[in-house]
Amino acid sequence: MGARTVRAGAGLLPALLVLLLLPGAAVLHAQPAPAHQIAPGVWFLLGDAHKGYSNTTLIEMQDYLIVVDANYPARAREIMAEARRLSPKPVRLVFDTHAHGDHSYGNSLWTAAGATTMAYAAILGEMDRYEPARWQAAEAKRADVRDLHETTVQRPLKTFRKSPYVLRDATREVDFVYLGWGHTRADGFVWLPKERVLCTGDAAVNGPRNKLWDADIANWPRVLTRAMRLRPRVVLPGHGDAGGVEILTGQRRFLQDLYRAVQQQVQAGKTAAQMNIQLPEADGNWTPGDLAWDVEATYNEITQHEPAGALPHAWK
Ligand SMILES: [Zn+2]
Repeated sequence: MGARTVRAGAGLLPALLVLLLLPGAAVLHAQPAPAHQIAPGVWFLLGDAHKGYSNTTLIEMQDYLIVVDANYPARAREIMAEARRLSPKPVRLVFDTHAHGDHSYGNSLWTAAGATTMAYAAILGEMDRYEPARWQAAEAKRADVRDLHETTVQRPLKTFRKSPYVLRDATREVDFVYLGWGHTRADGFVWLPKERVLCTGDAAVNGPRNKLWDADIANWPRVLTRAMRLRPRVVLPGHGDAGGVEILTGQRRFLQDLYRAVQQQVQAGKTAAQMNIQLPEADGNWTPGDLAWDVEATYNEITQHEPAGALPHAWK
């Protein structure tokens, strides 16, 4: 899961005023953000952070569509409608970039609609480890999960182990890639080599929207370095706006700076609660208003010599 803080940036108030002054200001109730075409037959759909949604990418193949990230159930239904609007082809494959609910809890709806869900194989272990506890917690908070009347997340029906897993037809190549334990043990990337477009899931987000509880914080920057070696032209993050490689470099720098700062204070004998971490200004886009959770996860990893995600932890 990603979305945590939505910052009221300095630009928000003027933007709201402009909206209110526009004729038909009812747009405030509005429709999901329109799909943004990244390349011919590749669309990026920004998820509404207030509803906890992750981003989604639609990829058109010769005979069918691929959806990158199943999303929450209510958003899955919206994406189905959007897909029908964008292309007459059926959604046949839905890829979960990782096990978090905002990326995978819509799985059963996609299966019912005739698609095959897929992920990197380690996602099954992640789901067995954290479910159904997180599903139940989501049911308590979210009507769209509750209304499914299911007891846990539907596991992806197909998995791959050997990376990359390549799909190719007359129109396009799509590579499903595993680069190591970063945000979770099972972060899958989707790479379009011809278009040089990379879908990262939450291995890279654009904004202060990540969670570190399930991560290997020390290894995550290495995962991002491997992603940079693909030399993407466009990076489509799990949360926040699309961009270029600066999303990968910025996410990596934030994690490295956080790790280093916490390590220094551990060496100075401080506990997580005693730490006062100030990250460089360059990390601002990735730094949440309250760093306490990130510091705590990093502190646990450093002092217990195990990835944060391998230690007993509660989802917050
Ligand atoms: Zn996530």
